[in-house]
Amino acid sequence: MTADPPAAHCQGLALTDLAAEFGTPLYLYDADRLRAQYTGLRERLHPALRLFYSLKANPNVAVTRTLRELGAGLELSSLAELATAQRAGATGDEMLFLGPGKSRDEIDACLKAGALLIAESLPELADIDEAARHRGGTAEVLLRVNPAFALKGGGLTMGGKPRQFGIDEEVLDALDPAGLRRYGNVRVTGVHAYMGTRILAAAAIVENTRRILDLAARLAGRLGFELGTVDVGGGLGVAYHAAESDLDADELTAGLNPVVAGFHAAHPGTRLVMELGRYLAAPAGTYLTRVRYTKESRGERFAVCDGGTNHHMAAVGIGSPFRRNFPMHRVGGGGPLVPWNVTGPLCTPNDTLGKAVDLPADLGPGDLVAVARSGAYGPSASPVLFLSHGHPAEVLVRDGRAHLVRRRDTVDDLLERQSDVGPAAPAP
Ligand SMILES: *Cc1c(COP(=O)(O)O)cnc(C)c1O
Repeated sequence: MTADPPAAHCQGLALTDLAAEFGTPLYLYDADRLRAQYTGLRERLHPALRLFYSLKANPNVAVTRTLRELGAGLELSSLAELATAQRAGATGDEMLFLGPGKSRDEIDACLKAGALLIAESLPELADIDEAARHRGGTAEVLLRVNPAFALKGGGLTMGGKPRQFGIDEEVLDALDPAGLRRYGNVRVTGVHAYMGTRILAAAAIVENTRRILDLAARLAGRLGFELGTVDVGGGLGVAYHAAESDLDADELTAGLNPVVAGFHAAHPGTRLVMELGRYLAAPAGTYLTRVRYTKESRGERFAVCDGGTNHHMAAVGIGSPFRRNFPMHRVGGGGPLVPWNVTGPLCTPNDTLGKAVDLPADLGPGDLVAVARSGAYGPSASPVLFLSHGHPAEVLVRDGRAHLVRRRDTVDDLLERQSDVGPAAPAP
């Protein structure tokens, strides 16, 4: 149960008016929903646990600013995400930078900005050491651990498996404590672990957090580094389908807060961090696509829309054992409901936003279809260049006003980075 009624308005603005003003296809973000999702958890959560927003879920600068101004730190993985965070006003260790293939440019930019680097391997630690020596300073670094234990309850299991992410717990357990002191310009000041995504079981998150905190304390004790920061990952999910239920913030914090309090009492100087992408951004976003044609093929109804999986790949249901649709409705409602296949403009049968979705029987050209819970892993995680339709427009509604926070790509935008070779020389 996603508990969102099918919306026709955003903060009092009619979706039909917004679609007319900004055009379709369109991503619409509701700043009130971002705030509700952030503060709903923040107000219940033990104050020692800081919340960081993972830009990977939605790197739009206005979305990032909204969450940062509420108090969220920012978790980043590329130069552009770092620049976005800075544009949104973040400084220093309000920024955490991770990722398994960091470039020297990224490392240098983090050192310059004071962003905290999270090292994913020992060779990377050597590179950070070298970069810091070159700058004539010391880099504060967290170690990302690939835990030996596995966690169940997420859409994607991390831990206990061979991964390109982090340093295996077994490797750190076997490391000579003097081993870390080889990196003379690196000061290890904490531990990070990320156990999975789309976790909807509060008990799994509590257990995950408990085990990561234990692991961090044990490693810091054995290897002799201070625990300035422990990042317990996150991966909190949201419900997309009727068969799922949203996490209950009361139930989650009832389990989590005693674990945090216990660790905080033993390590009062340690900053605790939880990273959230999907949980903060997904409920605040709606994808609006307009029906161009309707047709029937061999007994099934098709609504062919102006935007599809080129902007919303997640709707295909990758990562799910079987296909389930995102919550979708016709703006304005109506009935009776019958099954429709909702498709986009791409020349591939995979361009299907929803299969056998219950939509009004009289759905027709010009109608708007809203795909709810679409604020995370939308255009930035979709093949927006496929068939060269480009990036959709993005609009953020804040304080009852709609702001275009990304204009849609034009044909010129798509062509300007290409160079032609000119006509071939005539054959001799
Ligand atoms: C993807 C990712 C996140 C965000 O995951 P969500 O499931 O969107 O919350 C956080 N931390 C790391 C290390 C990630 O790779």
